[in-house]
Amino acid sequence: MSQQGLTSRLEQLRDKIRYHEYRYFVLDSPEISDAEFDQLIKELQRLEAQNPQLITPDSPTQRVGGEPLPGFRKVEHKRQMLSLDNAFNASGIINFANRIYRLAGSEQLDFVVEHKIDGLSAILTYQAGILIQGATRGNGLIGEDVTENIKTIRSIPLKLPERIDLEVRGEVYISKKDFAEINRERLEAGEALFANPRNAAAGSIRQLDPRIAAERSLSLMAYQLVHYEREEITSHARALSLLEGLGFKVNWYRKTPLVDELIACCQDWTKRRDDLPFEIDGLVIKVDDLNLRRELGSTAKSPRWAIAYKFPAQQKVTIVEDIIISVGRTGALTPSARLKPVQLAGSTVSRATLHNLDEIKRKGVKIGDSVLVQKAGDVIPEVVKVITDKRTGAESDFVMPEQCPVCGGEVLREEGEAVFRCTNITGCPAQRREGILHFISRNAMNIEGVGPALIDQLLAKGMITDFADLYRLKKDELLSLERMADKSAGNVIKAIAASKGRPLHRLIFALGIRHVGSGVARVLSQNYPSLDLLAEATSEELVAIEEIGPVIAASIVSFFKERNNREVIAKMKKNGIMPEFRPEKEQEKPELVGKRFVFTGGLSSYSRAEAKERVIAAGGKVTANISKNTDYLVAGENPGSKLVKAQQLGVLILDQKKFEELLT
Ligand code: AMP
Ligand code: ZN
Repeated sequence: MSQQGLTSRLEQLRDKIRYHEYRYFVLDSPEISDAEFDQLIKELQRLEAQNPQLITPDSPTQRVGGEPLPGFRKVEHKRQMLSLDNAFNASGIINFANRIYRLAGSEQLDFVVEHKIDGLSAILTYQAGILIQGATRGNGLIGEDVTENIKTIRSIPLKLPERIDLEVRGEVYISKKDFAEINRERLEAGEALFANPRNAAAGSIRQLDPRIAAERSLSLMAYQLVHYEREEITSHARALSLLEGLGFKVNWYRKTPLVDELIACCQDWTKRRDDLPFEIDGLVIKVDDLNLRRELGSTAKSPRWAIAYKFPAQQKVTIVEDIIISVGRTGALTPSARLKPVQLAGSTVSRATLHNLDEIKRKGVKIGDSVLVQKAGDVIPEVVKVITDKRTGAESDFVMPEQCPVCGGEVLREEGEAVFRCTNITGCPAQRREGILHFISRNAMNIEGVGPALIDQLLAKGMITDFADLYRLKKDELLSLERMADKSAGNVIKAIAASKGRPLHRLIFALGIRHVGSGVARVLSQNYPSLDLLAEATSEELVAIEEIGPVIAASIVSFFKERNNREVIAKMKKNGIMPEFRPEKEQEKPELVGKRFVFTGGLSSYSRAEAKERVIAAGGKVTANISKNTDYLVAGENPGSKLVKAQQLGVLILDQKKFEELLT
């Protein structure tokens, strides 16, 4: 291909990827499968690796940059980023509107009411259509340059459809679902929990390693167009629709001159906030006319033209009927309060987490107590405090059981630890179940479409005892389960097989070694390119790695010493799961570059999409039909007519084993 041809091919590919990122991350309505999307990315990565001089900073491959930063640069904001005045009820809103009417000398004006997302604000700067900077608000005058992390947010365009200079403000946030997932992992890893999605988002955007930020599933909702050169904008609603047109995700909003309607919206969303996939802590009401806004100006703290309607606190008093224990993946016994059911901001609450015994003591919670509970984020609610005035003397202290409530194993608390654990590591069914759920979870092996209900059935029927058994499941076996149709059984098998090709660091994380979160797993995979090598590592070796301290090292060594763990790993290996560390750029195999592959029949160790991906990563091409230009036909089980045709044309035919040999 000529240089010019290549450049235009790259641009085509990038535009296609941008479009599909937009469909997926902004509109939430993808047109192609994840695998097809990954293929586009892989193709672009391959072309760029071959032609590094043609990489542009706005390429979709450049979202996750390289090395961790030593620190963040400070950014002085051109315009101060203010906070908002609050209203807590209808009369607060009416007072706000009346104040505006008085200052404007008119009641004929529009307001815009929009969601107040509970995240942190960021300001994005584009030059000639290219994202050049992302900064946090900081103290309003000076923020931090978090460009590298902002670029990992895939609902943010790196390149605009127009070559314009632009400044956009928006809220960086994490969805409730991703927040719950992050906290679940942190709990299992013994790390401190984030109190709410906002803290999780703030913690993630301030990660010095953009690869970690990229894993946190951050989003951005744009709410203010600060500067636009193409037209003079006089309406906020118009600015929001311009932002939508430029490819940004924009808050829900409504424009109206009616104060009653503003109030109705606030009341309505107070009831419906739980239906949203992200946290909102209220609504913001703004004057629509941007010229009027300028006249109104701001006080030292906040603009006069806007007000935040804040939801009432989500707190209620109820009774602790009992304190019950659940057993986690690492055997941790986590107490939680069984509550007399109470309505809290749109949902019924009957459980509250108590974290651990120290927490129960610190809060002084007894069984039978009246307590104030609150909802923080989407996780189970928590006890704020005991209402001691309501004590009758009939309350009783909680006692940590000496035996595991699930398996009867001995319960111990290690020196200096807050957590009590069931010591029956190999035999405890609760630990095993949680371990499997962790293994299949999104940041681990990401086995889609397999969830707790299916795992429980498989365990109950004795079809699996650990995660290695998943890889032995057959479709026929699955069909014997309740509500399992042919198609879904096939999908489960496919999803499990697809996970075989996951990178080593995911597998290390999936094993569920205590204190080994996804970041540590990545570091380990870079130092130990296979699980066998990691299994032999000594503590001295491990602590020599910068990111690994003695606690993590000890935990890794003892994990691999445990006989049961060794058996499960051996079983995995027998079932064909033994990934090795593959540095991204060295995957290409010179002898396969440009070779054309065609597939027919099913492969047992991975899905078709995954097999294609591997061919593309190795530098080959995949086409749908056989021709005399085809180099290889990969024939799996039950091959179709392509096999005959390949034989006629003299195309090289590979079975699965030969295909794998060729790739490795
Ligand atoms: P506060 O921190 O309560 O004073 O509220 C001001 C903050 O609300 C801003 O700094 C933004 O981070 C955030 N915010 C969320 N959604 C919006 C919105 N739609 N318009 C303006 N600010 C918003
Ligand atoms: Zn147990």
